[in-house]
Amino acid sequence: MQDIKELFQRLDRQANSKIVITTHHKPDGDALGSSLALWKFLRNQGFDVHVVSPTDYGVHLQWMPNQEQVINFEMAYNRAKELVEQADFIFCLDFNALHRINELGDIIRNCKAEKIMIDHHQEPEDFDQYRYWTTQTTSTAQLVEEVIVMWKGAEAIDADMATCLYTGIMTDTGSFRFDTVTPHTHRTVAELIERGAQNSFIHQKVFDNFSYDRLRFIGHCLANNLEIIPELKTAVMSVTREELQEYKIQTGDTEGLVNYGLSIRGIEFSALFIDRTKLIKISFRGSGKFPCNEFSRDNFSGGGHFNAAGGQSTETLKEAVERFKHILPNYKKYLADD
Ligand code: 5GP
Ligand code: MN
Repeated sequence: MQDIKELFQRLDRQANSKIVITTHHKPDGDALGSSLALWKFLRNQGFDVHVVSPTDYGVHLQWMPNQEQVINFEMAYNRAKELVEQADFIFCLDFNALHRINELGDIIRNCKAEKIMIDHHQEPEDFDQYRYWTTQTTSTAQLVEEVIVMWKGAEAIDADMATCLYTGIMTDTGSFRFDTVTPHTHRTVAELIERGAQNSFIHQKVFDNFSYDRLRFIGHCLANNLEIIPELKTAVMSVTREELQEYKIQTGDTEGLVNYGLSIRGIEFSALFIDRTKLIKISFRGSGKFPCNEFSRDNFSGGGHFNAAGGQSTETLKEAVERFKHILPNYKKYLADD
């Protein structure tokens, strides 16, 4: 692995480099925020730079500065492929395994560009030439902020970039409440506000931007689909295909649903199963000593962080939930009072 500072020097000398920034499937606030911040920074430096997203993203992010520039691989396949194949450098943000971005990942793996990984998830795959990676941070947005400061100083952060970076840190920390948040995080965020991020406006855009149907859907799920297993401090919720259709659920609308389980006193592990037709998509969240990533890796072909992980299953919704409940007692040592 080469030193990322050497990359800055090379890029400083090669102003005509073609750059692509990409991120994970269904980008969240951190994925999109870090990508758009880096895009604006590199553009301000005069580079030919594009953001290519593997898929679309939620309406709660469709206000972010310069998001209209994002090229959706599913919608503009030829253009996206051409940009990737012509790129000299590809920044891979907020993910660390090319197979997780499906077909776009194969194109990236085989293209001539040098790859730079900026990420905070566990177990990075080896596909990059440069890496700025740690799990000891709040978000990829925070890492992008550090990269920009290392490269050109904090003065290089404009209001658009500050807004995008703030959004990434805010969404990946549950609005600054996870235990990844440190005094350093708050110092970074203070700097971002000074540079033009409007904190109250950003919260409103991200959290108060949903449809009436989506709120009714949450009410329905909480009233009918949430089950608790108090002796194992666990909450589990499942959502059918029909329910997604009935409430016209869009990309991004189910984000955060898994967290409701953790808001119940005494609950330390929450699981959400959603029937996405081709697959059952599962989210896990923990607030105590339960290793969500290990659980997901061992049982649901997934992974992620200790407190927030995801996985999938090709079983039916009912089978996946039944299997979950069947396995759970094996993890009693993490979940029951001793
Ligand atoms: P979410 O529940 O929001 O889909 O995912 C939570 C976290 O787990 C994210 O950090 C995400 O990157 C990770 N994650 C979600 N699904 C998978 C998966 O299938 N495999 C791996 N390795 N990580 C996942
Ligand atoms: Mn992230």
